[in-house]
Amino acid sequence: MKVRLTIASLIATLCLAGCSSANTSSLASQPDESSTSVTASASDESRSSAGQTGQDTSAADSSEAVSSSDSESSDVKRIDYELDTSKPTIAITFDDGPNATTTMEVLDILEKYQVRASFFLIGTNINDESAKSVKRAFDLGCDIENHSKTHSYMDKMTADEIKDEVAYVNDKVKEITGTTPKFFRPPYIAVNDTMYENIDMTFISGNGCNDWDDKVTAEYRAKYLEKKAADGVIFLLHDAEGNSKTVEALDKAIPILLEKGFQFATISELFELKGIEISGTDTNIYSELIAG
Ligand SMILES: [Zn+2]
Repeated sequence: MKVRLTIASLIATLCLAGCSSANTSSLASQPDESSTSVTASASDESRSSAGQTGQDTSAADSSEAVSSSDSESSDVKRIDYELDTSKPTIAITFDDGPNATTTMEVLDILEKYQVRASFFLIGTNINDESAKSVKRAFDLGCDIENHSKTHSYMDKMTADEIKDEVAYVNDKVKEITGTTPKFFRPPYIAVNDTMYENIDMTFISGNGCNDWDDKVTAEYRAKYLEKKAADGVIFLLHDAEGNSKTVEALDKAIPILLEKGFQFATISELFELKGIEISGTDTNIYSELIAG
């Protein structure tokens, strides 16, 4: 498969999350619409699976979840819809959870509008209480992915430290959901060769509006989503504890985007829909996927 990459901008406005104040002071207080942007384009021959709409993956995930879940029966009903290859598709992703408050509020919004999304977890945030929101997200049909154990600059780490950061989250997610994450979002989008060599997952960046910064209004966040939405775009938002403005923005923007004809895919569904192979040896980091 040929993948064409264009780096439109490498401004590190992404994922400088509320979980750390490092570097955030150097960012403009006014959010910038530009952000790390890598476009992947699948060649035609790689798109044979594009019509499958992610259903196979979902089915497999569900069956695994049933076999691995504890005896507590879940009353969470999957947000169930088939993706349409002819519709513009976006993937909303959330970093820096899980928690028992804001993550749950985000899930309330996703349920309200019946759209699926993806969550990239910080390992040290996973505890008995927050794990319930992870399980709920998974049961709703959302992707549960990896955002490292400690949210540190991993480009400063040794190979063993990098592996430990990733394995910790993958093991925790496997315990909760029965499935292992396939996608990795590096903290601060800081990457180097050692990371690519030692993390056998597909790296994801995204388009964000500094929604970790409380100064960015809910209105701005909603407008950003509405204006930036285009087929294949991956949005990077945060469900860090207390980030109510993003919850509010979602409540404004999602119905508008649905009205405009967009459909919402998880990150794995977007890859499948666009015919981009999910590979542990891929040395790209994706912000959007455009079928070429
Ligand atoms: Zn983060």
